[in-house]
Amino acid sequence: MKLLIATQNKGKIREFRDMLGADRFEWSDLLQHPDVPPADETGQTFRENACIKARHYALALGMWALADDSGLEVDAIDGNPGVHSARWAEMHNAGKGDVDNNLLLLRQLENVDDPRRTARFVCVLALANPEGQIILTCRDTVEGRILRAPRGTGGFGYDPLFYFDELGCTTAELPPGKKHEISHRGKALRRMRELMDEINLDQR
Ligand code: IMP
Repeated sequence: MKLLIATQNKGKIREFRDMLGADRFEWSDLLQHPDVPPADETGQTFRENACIKARHYALALGMWALADDSGLEVDAIDGNPGVHSARWAEMHNAGKGDVDNNLLLLRQLENVDDPRRTARFVCVLALANPEGQIILTCRDTVEGRILRAPRGTGGFGYDPLFYFDELGCTTAELPPGKKHEISHRGKALRRMRELMDEINLDQR
């Protein structure tokens, strides 16, 4: 069965294939389909955006499509940046990209004391069939706290600010394998694999 991973991000493509079983499906991804117009991510929630993407690419290419949407929710700023995580600085005319996103978040939390700096990474996965119907979804999270200065050089996005108490480090200080073990995306992918097994997806 042909399964599209609805992303152009090489890191995610590898992660999805490894965690869902590289030899179980005939894999495809958006790097192989550069002409497909992008989905309009107009949803208000991670789930809406994951479903919009899965449905859009499944219909555009006529194949099963798996999409994800993820981001950071910080309690002290009402769950923001949330679905706007990737473009948080841009939305506030405060630059663009990971470094500026992190600087803005630090400024927004300047007066927030340590116990109230709680946050979580969220990941929602959605699987659509070639007719664009959503067949499976799952969501997982990892809880942490936002530091006052970045630590570590691994990962991406908000990882240098996201402190994981159980391991006593940020997710940017973890080797990739360890991050997948505890991360929102790693946990959601393991759950998606179980759900796919339950409906015998690889035998379709
Ligand atoms: P996307 O779903 O990959 O587009 O992620 C949206 C944004 O959420 C990213 O650009 C990051 O800013 C943030 N984000 C999502 N997952 C992670 C993560 O594992 N570490 C750090 N930042 C993340």
